[in-house]
Amino acid sequence: MKLTSLGSGSSGNAFLLQTDEQTILLDCGVGARTIQKVLLGCTAPSTVILSHEHSDHVKSLKSVLRRHACEVVATPGTLGAIGHEAGWRNAQTGSRLDFGSVSISFVGVSHDAAEPCGFLLESADLRIAIVTDLGVVNTDVLDAISAADFVVLESNYDEGMLRSSHYPAHLKRRIRSEVGHLSNEDCAAALVHSLTSKTRAVWLSHLSHNNNTPVAAVATVREALLASGEDVPVTALARFDTSQILPYSAPPRQVSLFDV
Ligand SMILES: [Zn+2]
Ligand SMILES: [Zn+2]
Repeated sequence: MKLTSLGSGSSGNAFLLQTDEQTILLDCGVGARTIQKVLLGCTAPSTVILSHEHSDHVKSLKSVLRRHACEVVATPGTLGAIGHEAGWRNAQTGSRLDFGSVSISFVGVSHDAAEPCGFLLESADLRIAIVTDLGVVNTDVLDAISAADFVVLESNYDEGMLRSSHYPAHLKRRIRSEVGHLSNEDCAAALVHSLTSKTRAVWLSHLSHNNNTPVAAVATVREALLASGEDVPVTALARFDTSQILPYSAPPRQVSLFDV
Protein backbone atom coordinates (compact mmCIF):
# COMPACT_ATOMS: atom_id res chain seq x y z
CA MET A 1 0.00 0.00 0.00
CA LYS A 2 0.94 3.62 -0.55
CA LEU A 3 -0.31 6.60 1.45
CA THR A 4 -0.23 10.31 0.58
CA SER A 5 -1.62 13.30 2.49
CA LEU A 6 -3.59 15.66 0.23
CA GLY A 7 -3.66 18.45 2.83
CA SER A 8 -3.77 18.64 6.62
CA GLY A 9 -5.17 21.17 9.09
CA SER A 10 -8.36 22.93 10.07
CA SER A 11 -8.90 24.00 6.45
CA GLY A 12 -9.11 20.44 5.20
CA ASN A 13 -7.88 16.88 5.59
CA ALA A 14 -7.67 13.87 3.28
CA PHE A 15 -5.36 10.96 2.59
CA LEU A 16 -5.08 8.89 -0.58
CA LEU A 17 -4.52 5.17 0.02
CA GLN A 18 -3.55 3.10 -3.00
CA THR A 19 -3.31 -0.67 -2.99
CA ASP A 20 -2.68 -3.10 -5.85
CA GLU A 21 -6.44 -3.47 -6.25
CA GLN A 22 -8.06 -0.19 -5.28
CA THR A 23 -7.98 3.50 -4.51
CA ILE A 24 -9.39 4.63 -1.16
CA LEU A 25 -9.88 8.12 0.25
CA LEU A 26 -9.45 8.48 4.00
CA ASP A 27 -11.47 11.61 4.79
CA CYS A 28 -12.63 13.96 2.11
CA GLY A 29 -12.09 17.45 3.54
CA VAL A 30 -9.72 19.14 1.09
CA GLY A 31 -11.01 21.01 -1.95
CA ALA A 32 -12.95 19.00 -4.54
CA ARG A 33 -10.68 20.23 -7.31
CA THR A 34 -7.57 19.04 -5.46
CA ILE A 35 -9.11 15.59 -4.99
CA GLN A 36 -10.20 15.41 -8.64
CA LYS A 37 -6.75 16.36 -9.85
CA VAL A 38 -5.08 13.71 -7.70
CA LEU A 39 -7.59 11.04 -8.73
CA LEU A 40 -6.86 11.61 -12.43
CA GLY A 41 -3.69 9.57 -12.05
CA CYS A 42 -5.34 6.72 -10.09
CA THR A 43 -7.69 3.81 -10.53
CA ALA A 44 -11.22 5.16 -9.89
CA PRO A 45 -11.80 5.29 -6.13
CA SER A 46 -13.92 2.48 -4.68
CA THR A 47 -14.25 3.61 -1.08
CA VAL A 48 -14.33 6.72 1.09
CA ILE A 49 -13.59 6.10 4.77
CA LEU A 50 -14.39 8.90 7.20
CA SER A 51 -12.86 9.64 10.63
CA HIS A 52 -15.72 11.93 11.75
CA GLU A 53 -18.29 14.38 10.44
CA HIS A 54 -16.55 17.75 10.92
CA SER A 55 -16.52 19.73 7.70
CA ASP A 56 -12.72 19.82 7.45
CA HIS A 57 -12.97 16.01 6.95
CA VAL A 58 -16.10 15.63 4.81
CA LYS A 59 -16.70 18.82 2.83
CA SER A 60 -15.91 17.33 -0.61
CA LEU A 61 -17.73 14.03 0.01
CA LYS A 62 -20.79 14.93 -2.09
CA SER A 63 -18.65 16.13 -4.97
CA VAL A 64 -16.64 12.87 -4.95
CA LEU A 65 -19.81 10.75 -4.77
CA ARG A 66 -21.31 12.64 -7.73
CA ARG A 67 -18.36 11.63 -9.89
CA HIS A 68 -17.49 8.19 -8.50
CA ALA A 69 -19.55 5.23 -7.29
CA CYS A 70 -17.83 4.86 -3.91
CA GLU A 71 -18.91 2.98 -0.84
CA VAL A 72 -18.80 5.23 2.25
CA VAL A 73 -17.52 3.57 5.42
CA ALA A 74 -17.51 5.09 8.92
CA THR A 75 -18.65 4.44 12.45
CA PRO A 76 -22.44 4.35 13.00
CA GLY A 77 -22.25 7.68 14.84
CA THR A 78 -20.40 9.41 12.00
CA LEU A 79 -22.71 7.98 9.32
CA GLY A 80 -25.72 9.05 11.38
CA ALA A 81 -24.32 12.58 11.71
CA ILE A 82 -23.84 13.05 7.96
CA GLY A 83 -27.11 11.32 7.02
CA HIS A 84 -26.68 7.58 6.48
CA GLU A 85 -27.59 6.56 2.91
CA ALA A 86 -28.40 3.13 1.50
CA GLY A 87 -25.30 1.11 0.65
CA TRP A 88 -23.02 2.85 3.12
CA ARG A 89 -21.22 0.57 5.55
CA ASN A 90 -20.95 0.75 9.33
CA ALA A 91 -17.56 0.14 10.90
CA GLN A 92 -17.86 -0.35 14.63
CA THR A 93 -15.25 1.38 16.77
CA GLY A 94 -12.68 -1.26 17.67
CA SER A 95 -13.42 -3.36 14.57
CA ARG A 96 -11.13 -4.28 11.70
CA LEU A 97 -12.35 -4.44 8.10
CA ASP A 98 -10.59 -5.83 5.03
CA PHE A 99 -10.25 -3.80 1.84
CA GLY A 100 -8.50 -6.21 -0.53
CA SER A 101 -4.96 -6.72 0.71
CA VAL A 102 -5.22 -3.95 3.32
CA SER A 103 -7.09 -4.21 6.60
CA ILE A 104 -8.12 -1.12 8.53
CA SER A 105 -8.77 -0.99 12.28
CA PHE A 106 -11.12 1.73 13.53
CA VAL A 107 -9.57 3.18 16.69
CA GLY A 108 -11.91 5.16 18.96
CA VAL A 109 -10.67 8.66 19.90
CA SER A 110 -11.83 11.42 22.26
CA HIS A 111 -13.10 14.40 20.21
CA ASP A 112 -16.25 16.51 20.08
CA ALA A 113 -17.90 14.58 17.25
CA ALA A 114 -20.56 11.83 17.26
CA GLU A 115 -18.24 8.79 17.12
CA PRO A 116 -14.79 9.81 15.89
CA CYS A 117 -11.98 7.38 15.14
CA GLY A 118 -8.45 7.04 13.90
CA PHE A 119 -7.10 4.27 11.68
CA LEU A 120 -4.47 1.56 11.75
CA LEU A 121 -3.76 0.41 8.18
CA GLU A 122 -2.14 -3.00 7.79
CA SER A 123 -0.80 -4.80 4.73
CA ALA A 124 1.40 -7.90 4.66
CA ASP A 125 4.57 -5.95 5.38
CA LEU A 126 3.55 -2.49 6.55
CA ARG A 127 1.50 -0.79 9.26
CA ILE A 128 0.56 2.90 9.29
CA ALA A 129 -1.31 4.63 12.15
CA ILE A 130 -3.33 7.77 11.32
CA VAL A 131 -4.76 9.59 14.33
CA THR A 132 -5.85 13.23 14.08
CA ASP A 133 -8.50 15.24 15.95
CA LEU A 134 -8.32 14.02 19.54
CA GLY A 135 -8.28 15.78 22.88
CA VAL A 136 -6.48 13.10 24.86
CA VAL A 137 -4.59 9.96 23.93
CA ASN A 138 -6.22 6.73 25.09
CA THR A 139 -4.66 3.28 25.31
CA ASP A 140 -6.11 2.18 21.96
CA VAL A 141 -4.35 5.10 20.27
CA LEU A 142 -1.09 4.30 22.07
CA ASP A 143 -1.40 0.65 20.96
CA ALA A 144 -1.97 1.71 17.34
CA ILE A 145 1.11 3.96 17.45
CA SER A 146 3.19 1.15 18.97
CA ALA A 147 2.08 -1.23 16.22
CA ALA A 148 2.97 1.11 13.35
CA ASP A 149 6.01 1.42 11.09
CA PHE A 150 4.89 4.95 10.18
CA VAL A 151 2.88 7.23 12.48
CA VAL A 152 0.64 10.16 11.49
CA LEU A 153 -0.37 11.96 14.70
CA GLU A 154 -2.05 15.28 15.42
CA SER A 155 0.17 18.10 16.71
CA ASN A 156 -2.40 20.88 16.66
CA TYR A 157 -1.18 23.77 18.79
CA ASP A 158 1.76 25.25 20.62
CA GLU A 159 0.67 25.87 24.21
CA GLY A 160 2.40 29.27 24.44
CA MET A 161 0.96 30.48 21.12
CA LEU A 162 -2.57 29.39 22.09
CA ARG A 163 -2.28 31.09 25.50
CA SER A 164 -1.32 34.43 23.93
CA SER A 165 -3.62 34.15 20.90
CA HIS A 166 -6.65 36.36 20.25
CA TYR A 167 -9.00 33.35 20.48
CA PRO A 168 -11.87 33.82 22.95
CA ALA A 169 -11.55 31.95 26.25
CA HIS A 170 -14.33 29.47 25.42
CA LEU A 171 -12.58 28.47 22.18
CA LYS A 172 -9.23 28.05 23.95
CA ARG A 173 -10.99 25.85 26.52
CA ARG A 174 -12.57 23.73 23.76
CA ILE A 175 -9.24 23.24 21.96
CA ARG A 176 -7.44 22.24 25.18
CA SER A 177 -10.30 20.04 26.45
CA GLU A 178 -10.40 16.24 26.45
CA VAL A 179 -12.55 16.36 23.31
CA GLY A 180 -10.52 19.04 21.51
CA HIS A 181 -7.09 18.74 19.93
CA LEU A 182 -3.58 17.57 20.87
CA SER A 183 -0.88 20.14 21.62
CA ASN A 184 2.68 19.70 20.37
CA GLU A 185 3.60 18.71 23.93
CA ASP A 186 0.75 16.14 24.15
CA CYS A 187 1.79 14.70 20.79
CA ALA A 188 5.43 14.45 21.89
CA ALA A 189 4.47 12.74 25.15
CA ALA A 190 2.33 10.16 23.33
CA LEU A 191 5.15 9.40 20.91
CA VAL A 192 7.76 9.15 23.68
CA HIS A 193 5.45 6.72 25.47
CA SER A 194 4.61 4.50 22.53
CA LEU A 195 7.18 4.59 19.70
CA THR A 196 9.11 1.39 19.23
CA SER A 197 12.43 0.67 17.54
CA LYS A 198 10.58 -0.31 14.36
CA THR A 199 9.02 3.14 13.90
CA ARG A 200 10.54 4.52 10.70
CA ALA A 201 9.10 8.04 10.57
CA VAL A 202 6.49 10.36 12.08
CA TRP A 203 4.24 12.82 10.24
CA LEU A 204 2.72 15.58 12.37
CA SER A 205 -0.80 16.43 11.23
CA HIS A 206 -3.63 18.94 11.66
CA LEU A 207 -1.36 21.85 12.67
CA SER A 208 -3.28 25.00 13.65
CA HIS A 209 -2.75 27.91 11.27
CA ASN A 210 -2.99 30.49 14.07
CA ASN A 211 -1.54 28.69 17.07
CA ASN A 212 1.32 26.63 15.69
CA THR A 213 4.11 26.56 13.14
CA PRO A 214 5.72 23.55 11.46
CA VAL A 215 9.06 24.60 12.98
CA ALA A 216 7.65 24.73 16.54
CA ALA A 217 5.81 21.42 16.19
CA VAL A 218 8.76 19.51 14.75
CA ALA A 219 11.19 21.06 17.26
CA THR A 220 9.02 20.17 20.28
CA VAL A 221 8.50 16.59 19.15
CA ARG A 222 12.09 16.01 18.01
CA GLU A 223 13.53 17.41 21.26
CA ALA A 224 11.29 15.18 23.37
CA LEU A 225 12.10 12.11 21.30
CA LEU A 226 15.84 12.77 21.33
CA ALA A 227 15.75 13.30 25.09
CA SER A 228 14.21 9.85 25.42
CA GLY A 229 16.78 8.29 23.09
CA GLU A 230 14.56 8.06 19.98
CA ASP A 231 16.10 9.46 16.79
CA VAL A 232 13.14 9.26 14.39
CA PRO A 233 12.61 11.47 11.31
CA VAL A 234 9.73 13.91 12.04
CA THR A 235 7.93 15.95 9.34
CA ALA A 236 4.99 18.36 9.59
CA LEU A 237 2.34 17.80 6.90
CA ALA A 238 1.56 20.79 4.69
CA ARG A 239 -1.86 22.46 4.90
CA PHE A 240 -2.44 22.81 1.18
CA ASP A 241 0.01 20.47 -0.50
CA THR A 242 0.41 16.76 -1.12
CA SER A 243 3.02 14.98 0.94
CA GLN A 244 5.66 12.46 0.07
CA ILE A 245 4.35 8.94 -0.43
CA LEU A 246 4.63 6.43 2.41
CA PRO A 247 6.41 4.11 2.68
CA TYR A 248 9.65 5.90 1.85
CA SER A 249 12.98 4.70 2.97
CA ALA A 250 13.73 6.77 6.01
CA PRO A 251 17.34 6.80 7.18
CA PRO A 252 18.11 3.84 9.46
CA ARG A 253 17.32 4.45 13.12
CA GLN A 254 20.25 5.27 15.35
CA VAL A 255 20.41 2.73 18.13
CA SER A 256 20.93 4.39 21.48
CA LEU A 257 21.49 3.10 24.97
CA PHE A 258 17.79 3.64 25.60
CA ASP A 259 16.87 0.97 23.03
CA VAL A 260 18.73 -1.74 24.92
ZN1 LIG B 1 -12.73 17.43 14.21
ZN1 LIG C 1 -10.23 18.27 11.88
